[in-house]
Amino acid sequence: MTLFDSHCHLHFRQFDNDREEIIKKLRDFNIKIINVGTDFKESEKAVALAKQYPDLMWASVGLHPNDNLEENFDINKYRELAKLQNVVAIGECGLDYFRSPSETEIKRQKEIFVKQIGLAKELKKPLILHCRPPKGSQDAYEDAIEILKYENFNISTGNGVAHFFSDLKETAKKFLELGFYISFAGPITFAPEYKEIVEFVPMNRILIETDAPFAAPAPHRGRRNEPAYVEFVAHKIAEWKRLSIEEVAEQTTKNTLRLFQIK
Ligand SMILES: [Zn+2]
Repeated sequence: MTLFDSHCHLHFRQFDNDREEIIKKLRDFNIKIINVGTDFKESEKAVALAKQYPDLMWASVGLHPNDNLEENFDINKYRELAKLQNVVAIGECGLDYFRSPSETEIKRQKEIFVKQIGLAKELKKPLILHCRPPKGSQDAYEDAIEILKYENFNISTGNGVAHFFSDLKETAKKFLELGFYISFAGPITFAPEYKEIVEFVPMNRILIETDAPFAAPAPHRGRRNEPAYVEFVAHKIAEWKRLSIEEVAEQTTKNTLRLFQIK
């Protein structure tokens, strides 16, 4: 059984002291991962780490909407990085309205998102989409869907995944119509409100992830997350979908390989 953590940040400094041990666990438990970049420097680190373990990891390069407000998105630098063989996606990019950004900041978020959509189309790589609305609102997702449609980003021009999905069925339906996959993370293990959406998304469009070092699943909640904990996300999906853990592992791994064109 192989599990695929489709979104984590093993290159982050939170793993500097014990990265080797964590990678050993990946081998022991047969877990593969995608290291996701959040700005140019972190994207370079994600690629460099993946390069050392070509049988275990791949990388994505991109600029997160509000992790690094200092960086100006330089498409030429990202293009060069994205052309490397182990880079399988563009992102994480998107819209983050969680901390009520100003109009100027929202404008910047949208501009860098559009540039990354363009890069994904140009290089024919999928997008890793990060959307985070403030509590009780869906507008980050709605705005992102509107932009994707406006930029003509759909199943015939590109593909992607709505990472750390935390919205309603109606929103998931719109992403599925665009051809997107939906990725579930640690919170599904302790928040029963995810049951309906997990039941709704068809098995052939679900990815699993940890977003490590953040958002650890139960029973590790509140501590540093790591890719091996993707198992708990898979278990919850198995429970809600009434499948075996092997079936969930097989299908979500297949989906990940298909979306990211990993041979
Ligand atoms: Zn992330």
